[in-house]
Amino acid sequence: VWCHVTSILFQDKGETFGYTIIEDITEQRELRVQKEEFINVASHELKTPLTSLKAGLQLLNRKIKSEAVITASHIQLAQSAENNTTRLSNLVVDLLNSTKIEQGQLTLNKSRFKLSDILNECCNHILLDRKYYLTTKGDLSLEVIADQQKIEQVLVNLVNNAAKYAPDSEEIVIQVEGLEDRVKVSVTDRGNGISAENKSHLFDRYYRVNNDGNLNSGLGLGLYISSEIIRRHGGEIGVESKLGQGSTFWFTIPVKN
Ligand code: ADP
Repeated sequence: VWCHVTSILFQDKGETFGYTIIEDITEQRELRVQKEEFINVASHELKTPLTSLKAGLQLLNRKIKSEAVITASHIQLAQSAENNTTRLSNLVVDLLNSTKIEQGQLTLNKSRFKLSDILNECCNHILLDRKYYLTTKGDLSLEVIADQQKIEQVLVNLVNNAAKYAPDSEEIVIQVEGLEDRVKVSVTDRGNGISAENKSHLFDRYYRVNNDGNLNSGLGLGLYISSEIIRRHGGEIGVESKLGQGSTFWFTIPVKN
Protein backbone atom coordinates (compact mmCIF):
# COMPACT_ATOMS: atom_id res chain seq x y z
CA VAL A 1 0.00 0.00 0.00
CA TRP A 2 1.29 3.47 -0.94
CA CYS A 3 0.28 6.34 1.34
CA HIS A 4 0.59 10.06 1.25
CA VAL A 5 1.02 11.46 4.78
CA THR A 6 0.42 15.11 5.67
CA SER A 7 0.86 16.39 9.24
CA ILE A 8 -0.42 19.75 10.31
CA LEU A 9 0.58 21.29 13.65
CA PHE A 10 -0.72 24.49 15.16
CA GLN A 11 -0.33 26.30 18.45
CA ASP A 12 -2.97 27.88 20.59
CA LYS A 13 -2.23 29.60 23.92
CA GLY A 14 1.09 27.83 24.25
CA GLU A 15 -0.35 24.37 23.51
CA THR A 16 0.44 22.45 20.36
CA PHE A 17 -2.31 20.61 18.48
CA GLY A 18 -2.08 18.67 15.33
CA TYR A 19 -3.55 16.13 13.00
CA THR A 20 -2.31 13.83 10.34
CA ILE A 21 -4.02 12.98 7.07
CA ILE A 22 -3.17 9.57 5.62
CA GLU A 23 -4.27 9.18 2.03
CA ASP A 24 -4.20 5.83 0.22
CA ILE A 25 -2.57 6.58 -3.15
CA THR A 26 -1.93 2.97 -4.26
CA GLU A 27 -4.38 3.17 -7.14
CA GLN A 28 -3.09 6.57 -8.33
CA ARG A 29 0.46 5.25 -8.21
CA GLU A 30 -0.41 2.08 -10.10
CA LEU A 31 -2.15 4.17 -12.76
CA ARG A 32 0.91 6.38 -13.07
CA VAL A 33 3.26 3.40 -13.41
CA GLN A 34 0.91 1.84 -15.98
CA LYS A 35 0.81 5.10 -17.94
CA GLU A 36 4.60 5.48 -17.89
CA GLU A 37 5.04 1.88 -19.02
CA PHE A 38 2.53 2.46 -21.79
CA ILE A 39 4.33 5.60 -23.02
CA ASN A 40 7.57 3.57 -23.10
CA VAL A 41 6.03 0.77 -25.12
CA ALA A 42 4.15 3.17 -27.42
CA SER A 43 7.29 5.21 -28.16
CA HIS A 44 9.17 2.02 -28.97
CA GLU A 45 6.33 0.79 -31.20
CA LEU A 46 6.34 4.07 -33.12
CA LYS A 47 10.12 4.27 -33.35
CA THR A 48 10.71 0.79 -34.80
CA PRO A 49 8.74 1.22 -38.06
CA LEU A 50 9.99 4.82 -38.36
CA THR A 51 13.61 3.69 -38.15
CA SER A 52 13.19 1.01 -40.79
CA LEU A 53 11.12 3.36 -42.93
CA LYS A 54 13.93 5.89 -42.88
CA ALA A 55 16.66 3.33 -43.57
CA GLY A 56 14.62 1.75 -46.39
CA LEU A 57 13.90 5.08 -48.07
CA GLN A 58 17.55 6.16 -47.82
CA LEU A 59 18.65 2.92 -49.47
CA LEU A 60 15.96 3.18 -52.15
CA ASN A 61 16.99 6.77 -52.84
CA ARG A 62 20.62 5.81 -53.28
CA LYS A 63 19.73 2.87 -55.52
CA ILE A 64 17.42 4.95 -57.72
CA LYS A 65 20.23 7.48 -58.25
CA SER A 66 22.83 4.86 -59.16
CA GLU A 67 20.80 2.22 -61.01
CA ALA A 68 19.20 2.94 -64.38
CA VAL A 69 16.32 0.43 -64.33
CA ILE A 70 13.74 -0.52 -61.72
CA THR A 71 14.65 -3.88 -60.20
CA ALA A 72 12.96 -6.34 -57.83
CA SER A 73 14.97 -4.89 -54.97
CA HIS A 74 13.55 -1.39 -55.59
CA ILE A 75 10.05 -2.82 -55.54
CA GLN A 76 10.74 -4.74 -52.35
CA LEU A 77 12.10 -1.63 -50.62
CA ALA A 78 9.09 0.43 -51.73
CA GLN A 79 6.69 -2.29 -50.50
CA SER A 80 8.42 -2.48 -47.16
CA ALA A 81 8.27 1.35 -46.84
CA GLU A 82 4.55 1.21 -47.57
CA ASN A 83 4.06 -1.55 -44.95
CA ASN A 84 5.86 0.53 -42.34
CA THR A 85 3.70 3.54 -43.13
CA THR A 86 0.58 1.35 -42.80
CA ARG A 87 1.85 0.04 -39.46
CA LEU A 88 2.50 3.58 -38.23
CA SER A 89 -0.84 4.92 -39.35
CA ASN A 90 -2.70 1.95 -37.78
CA LEU A 91 -0.84 2.59 -34.52
CA VAL A 92 -1.68 6.29 -34.50
CA VAL A 93 -5.37 5.55 -35.20
CA ASP A 94 -5.34 3.06 -32.27
CA LEU A 95 -3.75 5.61 -29.95
CA LEU A 96 -6.23 8.34 -30.89
CA ASN A 97 -9.22 6.04 -30.52
CA SER A 98 -8.05 4.68 -27.19
CA THR A 99 -7.81 8.24 -25.83
CA LYS A 100 -11.25 9.09 -27.22
CA ILE A 101 -12.75 6.01 -25.52
CA GLU A 102 -11.16 6.98 -22.19
CA GLN A 103 -12.56 10.50 -22.49
CA GLY A 104 -16.00 9.20 -23.48
CA GLN A 105 -15.68 10.95 -26.83
CA LEU A 106 -15.89 8.10 -29.29
CA THR A 107 -18.67 9.34 -31.53
CA LEU A 108 -20.37 7.32 -34.23
CA ASN A 109 -20.99 8.74 -37.66
CA LYS A 110 -23.59 6.37 -39.10
CA SER A 111 -24.55 5.76 -42.70
CA ARG A 112 -25.98 2.88 -44.74
CA PHE A 113 -23.37 0.78 -46.54
CA LYS A 114 -22.72 -2.67 -47.96
CA LEU A 115 -20.27 -5.00 -46.25
CA SER A 116 -18.45 -5.32 -49.60
CA ASP A 117 -17.59 -1.57 -49.38
CA ILE A 118 -15.60 -2.05 -46.18
CA LEU A 119 -13.89 -5.16 -47.51
CA ASN A 120 -12.56 -3.21 -50.48
CA GLU A 121 -11.48 -0.28 -48.36
CA CYS A 122 -9.85 -2.28 -45.57
CA CYS A 123 -7.36 -3.86 -47.99
CA ASN A 124 -5.44 -0.54 -47.89
CA HIS A 125 -4.71 -1.05 -44.20
CA ILE A 126 -3.85 -4.71 -44.22
CA LEU A 127 -0.21 -5.56 -43.76
CA LEU A 128 1.31 -7.62 -46.55
CA ASP A 129 4.34 -8.92 -44.68
CA ARG A 130 3.72 -12.51 -45.68
CA LYS A 131 1.83 -14.39 -48.32
CA TYR A 132 -1.65 -15.63 -47.47
CA TYR A 133 -4.94 -15.97 -49.24
CA LEU A 134 -7.69 -13.68 -48.07
CA THR A 135 -10.95 -15.38 -48.99
CA THR A 136 -14.47 -14.08 -48.56
CA LYS A 137 -17.61 -16.16 -47.99
CA GLY A 138 -21.29 -15.40 -47.60
CA ASP A 139 -23.46 -12.52 -48.73
CA LEU A 140 -21.24 -9.46 -49.11
CA SER A 141 -24.09 -7.38 -50.50
CA LEU A 142 -25.74 -7.25 -47.03
CA GLU A 143 -26.25 -3.71 -45.78
CA VAL A 144 -25.97 -2.19 -42.32
CA ILE A 145 -26.43 1.25 -40.81
CA ALA A 146 -23.24 1.91 -38.86
CA ASP A 147 -20.07 3.98 -38.68
CA GLN A 148 -18.35 2.71 -41.80
CA GLN A 149 -14.83 3.85 -40.91
CA LYS A 150 -14.99 2.34 -37.44
CA ILE A 151 -16.41 -1.00 -38.60
CA GLU A 152 -13.65 -1.03 -41.22
CA GLN A 153 -11.14 -0.50 -38.42
CA VAL A 154 -12.53 -3.49 -36.50
CA LEU A 155 -12.20 -5.71 -39.57
CA VAL A 156 -8.68 -4.43 -40.27
CA ASN A 157 -7.70 -5.23 -36.66
CA LEU A 158 -9.04 -8.77 -36.90
CA VAL A 159 -7.42 -9.51 -40.28
CA ASN A 160 -4.09 -7.97 -39.30
CA ASN A 161 -4.13 -9.99 -36.06
CA ALA A 162 -4.78 -13.18 -38.01
CA ALA A 163 -1.87 -12.31 -40.32
CA LYS A 164 0.37 -11.46 -37.36
CA TYR A 165 -0.50 -14.16 -34.83
CA ALA A 166 -1.30 -17.06 -37.15
CA PRO A 167 1.80 -17.11 -39.38
CA ASP A 168 1.27 -20.77 -40.31
CA SER A 169 -2.21 -20.13 -41.65
CA GLU A 170 -2.12 -19.92 -45.42
CA GLU A 171 -5.71 -18.84 -45.66
CA ILE A 172 -7.65 -16.20 -43.76
CA VAL A 173 -11.40 -16.32 -44.33
CA ILE A 174 -13.78 -13.41 -43.90
CA GLN A 175 -17.37 -14.56 -43.68
CA VAL A 176 -20.51 -12.40 -43.75
CA GLU A 177 -23.83 -13.89 -42.60
CA GLY A 178 -27.27 -12.38 -42.30
CA LEU A 179 -28.94 -13.53 -39.06
CA GLU A 180 -32.48 -12.73 -37.96
CA ASP A 181 -31.89 -9.20 -36.67
CA ARG A 182 -28.18 -8.69 -37.17
CA VAL A 183 -25.28 -9.21 -39.51
CA LYS A 184 -22.40 -11.38 -38.38
CA VAL A 185 -18.86 -10.94 -39.69
CA SER A 186 -16.16 -13.44 -38.81
CA VAL A 187 -12.45 -13.77 -39.49
CA THR A 188 -11.00 -17.29 -39.31
CA ASP A 189 -7.38 -18.37 -39.30
CA ARG A 190 -5.75 -21.78 -38.99
CA GLY A 191 -2.98 -20.66 -36.64
CA ASN A 192 -2.01 -21.84 -33.18
CA GLY A 193 -5.15 -20.65 -31.45
CA ILE A 194 -5.51 -19.16 -27.98
CA SER A 195 -5.77 -20.93 -24.60
CA ALA A 196 -9.00 -20.70 -22.59
CA GLU A 197 -7.21 -18.69 -19.89
CA ASN A 198 -5.99 -16.02 -22.32
CA LYS A 199 -9.28 -15.91 -24.19
CA SER A 200 -11.06 -14.35 -21.23
CA HIS A 201 -8.71 -11.32 -21.20
CA LEU A 202 -8.18 -10.68 -24.92
CA PHE A 203 -10.53 -7.71 -25.08
CA ASP A 204 -9.01 -5.97 -22.01
CA ARG A 205 -7.10 -2.74 -22.52
CA TYR A 206 -3.32 -3.34 -22.97
CA TYR A 207 -3.73 -7.13 -22.76
CA ARG A 208 -1.23 -9.11 -24.83
CA VAL A 209 -0.74 -12.87 -24.64
CA ASN A 210 2.65 -13.73 -23.18
CA ASN A 211 3.78 -10.13 -23.34
CA ASP A 212 7.49 -10.78 -22.79
CA GLY A 213 7.75 -13.61 -25.26
CA ASN A 214 5.44 -12.00 -27.83
CA LEU A 215 7.81 -11.02 -30.61
CA ASN A 216 5.10 -9.30 -32.63
CA SER A 217 4.72 -5.59 -32.25
CA GLY A 218 1.56 -4.28 -30.64
CA LEU A 219 0.11 -2.17 -27.86
CA GLY A 220 -2.65 -4.52 -26.75
CA LEU A 221 -5.23 -1.97 -27.90
CA GLY A 222 -6.69 -3.44 -31.12
CA LEU A 223 -9.21 -5.84 -29.59
CA TYR A 224 -10.07 -3.44 -26.77
CA ILE A 225 -10.91 -0.68 -29.27
CA SER A 226 -12.76 -3.12 -31.52
CA SER A 227 -14.93 -4.31 -28.64
CA GLU A 228 -15.76 -0.70 -27.63
CA ILE A 229 -16.72 0.15 -31.22
CA ILE A 230 -18.98 -2.89 -31.50
CA ARG A 231 -20.49 -2.33 -28.05
CA ARG A 232 -21.34 1.27 -29.00
CA HIS A 233 -23.19 -0.10 -32.04
CA GLY A 234 -25.23 -2.39 -29.80
CA GLY A 235 -23.52 -5.47 -31.24
CA GLU A 236 -21.41 -8.26 -29.79
CA ILE A 237 -17.84 -9.38 -30.33
CA GLY A 238 -16.23 -12.69 -29.42
CA VAL A 239 -13.77 -15.40 -30.24
CA GLU A 240 -13.86 -19.14 -30.68
CA SER A 241 -10.49 -20.76 -30.58
CA LYS A 242 -8.82 -24.10 -29.96
CA LEU A 243 -5.14 -24.49 -29.28
CA GLY A 244 -3.43 -25.92 -32.35
CA GLN A 245 -6.47 -25.44 -34.57
CA GLY A 246 -6.87 -21.71 -35.11
CA SER A 247 -9.27 -18.97 -34.15
CA THR A 248 -12.44 -17.32 -35.33
CA PHE A 249 -12.96 -13.75 -34.19
CA TRP A 250 -16.50 -12.52 -34.90
CA PHE A 251 -18.71 -9.49 -34.38
CA THR A 252 -22.36 -8.67 -34.98
CA ILE A 253 -24.09 -5.42 -35.91
CA PRO A 254 -27.83 -5.06 -35.30
CA VAL A 255 -29.73 -4.38 -38.52
CA LYS A 256 -32.31 -2.06 -36.92
CA ASN A 257 -30.88 1.09 -35.34
P1 ADP B 1 -1.84 -6.39 -30.00
O1 ADP B 1 -1.93 -7.02 -31.35
O2 ADP B 1 -1.35 -5.00 -30.03
O3 ADP B 1 -1.11 -7.24 -29.02
P2 ADP B 1 -4.71 -6.89 -29.71
O4 ADP B 1 -5.67 -6.32 -28.72
O5 ADP B 1 -5.07 -6.73 -31.16
O6 ADP B 1 -3.32 -6.22 -29.40
O7 ADP B 1 -4.52 -8.44 -29.42
C1 ADP B 1 -4.31 -8.89 -28.09
C2 ADP B 1 -3.64 -10.25 -28.09
O8 ADP B 1 -4.51 -11.24 -28.61
C3 ADP B 1 -2.39 -10.31 -28.97
O9 ADP B 1 -1.25 -9.89 -28.27
C4 ADP B 1 -2.33 -11.79 -29.37
O10 ADP B 1 -1.54 -12.51 -28.47
C5 ADP B 1 -3.78 -12.28 -29.25
N1 ADP B 1 -4.39 -12.53 -30.59
C6 ADP B 1 -5.16 -11.67 -31.30
N2 ADP B 1 -5.59 -12.22 -32.46
C7 ADP B 1 -5.07 -13.48 -32.49
C8 ADP B 1 -5.16 -14.58 -33.44
N3 ADP B 1 -5.85 -14.47 -34.58
N4 ADP B 1 -4.50 -15.73 -33.11
C9 ADP B 1 -3.81 -15.85 -31.94
N5 ADP B 1 -3.69 -14.84 -31.02
C10 ADP B 1 -4.31 -13.68 -31.28
